[in-house]
Formats: sequence, structure tokens, C-alpha cells
Amino acid sequence: MAKPIIPSESWIASDFSPETFGRLTTISSPYKPEGAKSPVQDFVCSCGKKVTKPVSSVRSGNTSSCGCIKKEILAKKNKENAKHGYFGTPTYRSWSSMIVRCEDTSHVAYHNYGGRGIKIDQELRTFEGFLKYLGERPTKEHTLDRIDVNGNYEPGNVRWATRKEQSTNKRNTINIRVGEESGDLNYWHEKTGISKGALHYRISKGWTPEQVLGLAVRPRSRTIYIEYRGRRLSTYEWSKEIGVSASVIKQRLREGRPIDEVLSGNNQKIIYLEALGERLTLAEWSKRTGLPVGTLRHRIYRNWNPHDVVSRPYLSKTPIVPLE
Ligand SMILES: [Zn+2]
Repeated sequence: MAKPIIPSESWIASDFSPETFGRLTTISSPYKPEGAKSPVQDFVCSCGKKVTKPVSSVRSGNTSSCGCIKKEILAKKNKENAKHGYFGTPTYRSWSSMIVRCEDTSHVAYHNYGGRGIKIDQELRTFEGFLKYLGERPTKEHTLDRIDVNGNYEPGNVRWATRKEQSTNKRNTINIRVGEESGDLNYWHEKTGISKGALHYRISKGWTPEQVLGLAVRPRSRTIYIEYRGRRLSTYEWSKEIGVSASVIKQRLREGRPIDEVLSGNNQKIIYLEALGERLTLAEWSKRTGLPVGTLRHRIYRNWNPHDVVSRPYLSKTPIVPLE
């Protein structure tokens, strides 16, 4: 085991117990280097590298490795990109959204594609095959079009087409029907004042006719569920449970981290503090001293010595003196 870095100016509880945040495990208590604005702590990353990071950024979940997670993600992206060099290009996006529309049952437009039995031919299912058959997407105006809108994504039925080409080709103009009333985009534009572009966009997104016409609330953005240890909760519900904001959880998901890292809480670990000859948890100290746990925690991060942490009186904010 490597020799821990002993911080210059700090208190160390006599039996320092390491805490883990993501890939980082503490190897020192918080301390404040000369001239630094906020306390830092020394960590060893699961990759073996030793780093010093601000206490707050680690405990908030913003930092959870020495930087190796970012490097790994980048390397993975580069590897995928190197395979065909098209990753993230408009052509690639057209290919991947075709798959999502047809195969991801939670996609908002799924019911118009996969849900209607629209399938993707094996040849087009691989990006290489797709590119070979269709070539690159010619311009930003072009989208992937099926000549027969009820047919599959298969050779002979797909092409790049501009929106104009698509709409003139389709046998029917777009009709929206709500109850007994039916009309084309012009009709509903006149009637509701919603621009034709907006109506078209909403239809293309798979909204229901009521939602397209503003008669029902628009679809909400997709709720992401995470299953962990036999429980399936939304990111919002997990955030309540682990005390990390839902956006941090989503960010961790996007970074492709393992699930127990995604759902690791900030201050989950119990902190022990030794002072006045006793070793107690912060909650126990709080009971003993009447000081809020948050205050105790705050004092520790501010690098107070343990004796002061538990024995200095709690000073509330300066009382407001009423003006005469
Ligand atoms: Zn690392």
C-alpha cells in the first residue's frame, strides 16, 4: 500500500476512516493549502492515480475520478468513430434515428413506426450497409424518406429527399382528424392560428391530433427509469433518495458510468469525529451538543480542529436590528 500523503496543515482524526466518492477514496482529511480559497482533500483514484481535489466538488458529485472517466469515454468515442469515421455526422444521425423510431418502444414516435410494424431491412440495419446503399445525406434539407409510407426501410423503398419532394410524392396531403372534424394543415392553421410549420413538426414528432392542435397537453420529455437492487425508480425519485440532483444523475448516465456510481450519494458515508476523548458520529455529536449536523459538517470542511467543532457555540446569523 502506498504511503498516504500527509497534508501539511490539518487535523487528522486518530483513526482516520477513508470515504469513497465514485472512484475517489480519501487518503487525507480536508485541509487548506496556503493561499487556497477552499479546502481540498487528497484522494486515490481506483485507477491508482493520486490527486488533490476541492472537497466541495467531490462531495457534490461533480468530480468522481482523477479524470480517467472522461478519458475513457473519449477513447470509446474515438474508437467508434475510427471504425467508419461517420460518428455524429448527419448521415449517422439519420441512420440511428431510424433505428430508434422503429425499435425503441419508449420513443415518442415509435407508434408511427415500429409500433405500426415498420421494419428495417438487415442490409440497412448496419451503418456500413446503410451508407453503401444510400450514400451520404446530400444536404441539410434532405431527410430519409420511404417512398411507400407504409413500407419498410428496405432497398427500393428508401431515398434521401427534401421535405418538398416528400410531400408532393405522398398520395395524401396530411390530414388531421379530431372527432368528426377533419382538415389539412391549411384548414387547421386558419382555425387555430398555429403555424403550418409547427403543425407539421408536431405531427412528425408523433404527437396525437389533440396534442398537435393544442387541445391536450404536449407530451412530456421522456422519464428515465433506473433499476437498481430490484427497485425501478425514475431519476427524480432516485435523486430524492440519494440526495443528488436528477441532472447530476442524468449526466452520470450520459457518461456511461456503472450503475452504482450513477446512484452514489454525496454524503452517504457516516462521518466519525473524535473529540473530547470520544469517537462519535456527527448525528451523535449533534444530539450531544445541540449543534445541527450541517454545522458540524461545515466546520469540519472548514478545517476546524475537532475540539472547536463540537465545543464552540452555535452563532446564528447576525440578528437584524429593526430601524427606529
Ligand atoms: Zn483515475
